[in-house]
Amino acid sequence: MRALSVAVFALCGLAATACAGQAASGETVISAPTPAAAPASGSDSAPASVQVKDAAVAPLKGKVVAVDPGHNGGNYKDPKAINKQVDVLTKRKACDTTGTATNDGYSEAAFTWDVSQRLAKILKRRGAKVVMTRSDNASVGPCITERAAIGNKAKADAAISVHADGAAAGNHGFHVIMPKKINGPVDPVVGASRKLGVAVRDSFTKTTGQPYSTYIGSKALNFRDDLGGLNLSTVPKIFIECGNMRNAAEAAKFRDPAFRQKVALGLANGIQTYLK
Ligand code: ZN
Repeated sequence: MRALSVAVFALCGLAATACAGQAASGETVISAPTPAAAPASGSDSAPASVQVKDAAVAPLKGKVVAVDPGHNGGNYKDPKAINKQVDVLTKRKACDTTGTATNDGYSEAAFTWDVSQRLAKILKRRGAKVVMTRSDNASVGPCITERAAIGNKAKADAAISVHADGAAAGNHGFHVIMPKKINGPVDPVVGASRKLGVAVRDSFTKTTGQPYSTYIGSKALNFRDDLGGLNLSTVPKIFIECGNMRNAAEAAKFRDPAFRQKVALGLANGIQTYLK
């Protein structure tokens, strides 16, 4: 639907800073999950073989991960709610945006929803408790302030907000966004968030073959103080812009379910590396 696409692009522009882009290149082999940790020694409460198996199957047991699929497929239906101004401490900005889309209409919201579901499945399979910030891709919201609050309330060990950019078509590559100190609630987790960001950056490029962003950050790392999802987080948190949806080569990748699975695996492996 042409009208819808125009609306999506227009609204994305309002918050384009939180959208991302990607570039394609040779794809690498999907990384295997991290090997099991060594079993506890000296315990006779369970056979060593059982302990090894538990660690292998559930390396993230006891960990809580907050997964935030950026935007929402229904956001375009309620501009008043989505454009409502909220306080992100360093400024006031819209509650959320529609996000961007590929030139042929695959929305960022649909992409982030699909990737986040795949990511949650992998994390749960590895034993983590996963908290999502939205439960479908047809609703409106929640606001970026609430998305941060969900991770905080869950006392997440790690939190990630999944996005894809809407930059100029010639740009490509992914980047990770981490918080800056703002004399606010995020300050105590700025260092941990950076570690999480580096771990996810390394795993993401290895697993997906995505190159570093050609247009934002340094070696795919970017630090910002204008994102509510980061400023209001009291748990280690990052955003990832998986690539540029307006770049034709990257758009084609985003539409491929096999690539989206690699994206999810790259994120999961990076989070697991950080949590170990
Ligand atoms: Zn976005």
